[in-house]
Amino acid sequence: MIITDTHTHLYSESFDDDRKEMMQRTIDSGVTRLFVPAIDASYTNAMLELEQNYPEYVFLMMGLHPTHVKENYLDELNHVKEQLASHKFYAVGEIGIDLYWDKSTLKIQQDAFRQQIHLAKQYKLPIVIHCREAFNEVFEILEEEKGDDLFGIFHCFTGSLEQAHQAISYNMKLGIGGVATFKNGKIDQFLNQIDIKHIVLETDAPYLAPKPYRGKRNESSYILKVVEKLSDIYHKSEEIIAEITTQNSKDVFGV
Ligand SMILES: [Zn+2]
Repeated sequence: MIITDTHTHLYSESFDDDRKEMMQRTIDSGVTRLFVPAIDASYTNAMLELEQNYPEYVFLMMGLHPTHVKENYLDELNHVKEQLASHKFYAVGEIGIDLYWDKSTLKIQQDAFRQQIHLAKQYKLPIVIHCREAFNEVFEILEEEKGDDLFGIFHCFTGSLEQAHQAISYNMKLGIGGVATFKNGKIDQFLNQIDIKHIVLETDAPYLAPKPYRGKRNESSYILKVVEKLSDIYHKSEEIIAEITTQNSKDVFGV
């Protein structure tokens, strides 16, 4: 069984003490395709090192995370441009809008999101969207930018069924992770109404650990709990869930 984690922050400081062991557990559990989103320039070296250590398993993205869009964001975007021009990445992400942590930066978040969508189109890459308390704002920009050259993943999708259909209409797959296993996660209640061809799996490690690890540090091997949950929801075996969602991830990332 090959499982694909489409969103895992393997370079996070929270793995500094036991990264080797964590990576071994992950690979041993069959989670052998690990897509790693960027946050800002301060993590780039750690990401490149990770790729060097695990070239068969690790696929990097490049981008500026919306909560890291600050006064210096144009410098950060220059870093993203330089990296995209000099190294192979598999997506532009994670990018988007987050109004949970800071509403005052909305204008520059919108600008950074648009500019990075243009970069993705230029490099023919998918985008990986981070959207928190900002569905209207994110959809507004996707509406402007929609087309055959816009595609990707709505990471950690937490919206309604209607919002799910809207995201899918912009060529986005829905990234489903630990939240689907939470009692009050909501998404599990209508997921069976969404064709599984639109679903990819993710952990968002070290955040959002699935049940029964909720509240603890998350890691990519825990994605098995998400596979188990989707197996219940879609009445398909875990092997089939892994196979379909891995194929969906290949359709997005081209690898
Ligand atoms: Zn993330």
